[in-house]
Amino acid sequence: MDRSSQRKTVDIIVPCFNEEHNIDAFFRETQKVASEMEGYDFAYIFIDDGSTDETLAKIKSLAADAKAPAGAMRDAETPAARCHVRYISFSRNFGKEAAMYAGLRASKGDFAVIIDADLQHPPQLIATMLKRIEETGCDSCAARRVSRKGEPKIRSAFARAFYKIMNRYSDIEIIDGAVDFRIMNRKMVKAIVSMPESQRFSKGIFAWVGFETEWIEFENVKRLSGESKWSVWSLAKYAVDGFIDFAVSPLKFVGVFGGAITVCSTIYLIIEILKTLIFGKDTPGYASTICLILFFGGLIIAILSLIGEYIGRMYLETKGRPVYVEKESNLDEE
Ligand code: UDP
Ligand code: MG
Repeated sequence: MDRSSQRKTVDIIVPCFNEEHNIDAFFRETQKVASEMEGYDFAYIFIDDGSTDETLAKIKSLAADAKAPAGAMRDAETPAARCHVRYISFSRNFGKEAAMYAGLRASKGDFAVIIDADLQHPPQLIATMLKRIEETGCDSCAARRVSRKGEPKIRSAFARAFYKIMNRYSDIEIIDGAVDFRIMNRKMVKAIVSMPESQRFSKGIFAWVGFETEWIEFENVKRLSGESKWSVWSLAKYAVDGFIDFAVSPLKFVGVFGGAITVCSTIYLIIEILKTLIFGKDTPGYASTICLILFFGGLIIAILSLIGEYIGRMYLETKGRPVYVEKESNLDEE
């Protein structure tokens, strides 16, 4: 076996949505780490998630720089020349989940790393993660934030509550502070890609597929440039979607609740009948009857809308639409 065939390949998957000011710095920083690691060949898979700025142009220029014959790569001066840069560009913004999925589908390497383009996921950790996965023989090594410095208080409080509810009531356990920054071996990537759902919640999918995962901790870092794409509203929607994707417990809960109400009201009815029979008492209570009707009317509508949430998702899932639509890519060029 020659030396090159022993080298392991690592695909770095980078979802990008309007990251024109971050791409170059991200690439430089990550290449610094990659060039210091012996025994691995790195390839980048940038996903342009329908950016409206110069993100795609930046990615294409990195790809053009990196186009060098394999033999020349090691000794070349420019960092870009030591790796492959592949990209997929979406026809519109499909969201980070779709971008990560596209990247994983395109990955053929021994390992795949998912990392943000805004340098909030320190690239130096790729080396730590790779070392950990090789040393321990685990399938995945993921990062979790130990602090939420620099993040709005409301967002932190919201995230904490989400993890608590998710872990208590869903089928999976998500580590508090877990971000989508992780390295996986081929087996795990294959398992994730084989999950056909079109409404994807990766934090849940990573947990659901199982495999042995090691965790490393890191301090929160501020975004290099630009704003987070998440508003409080979109985060709330993400949380509800994620929860419903992996939990049917709300449906069970409303069933138990309905059963409890039936039992209570039957007991109440029996008491009222006995009172009337024994004491001949009238049963007054026009106001309380109205209140109960309104209360249960509201409750029934709320429960129906909860069921509607699940049915709506089933409806979207049965359409079998693709997770994303590709506009262009250089994947076939090799
Ligand atoms: N991103 C994406 N599509 C989107 C939103 C975000 O590909 O619709 C990318 C974004 O370019 C970045 C990563 O996902 O590389 C994380 O996004 P962001 O920094 O906005 O999220 P946060 O770090 O605040 O969780
Ligand atoms: Mg970010």
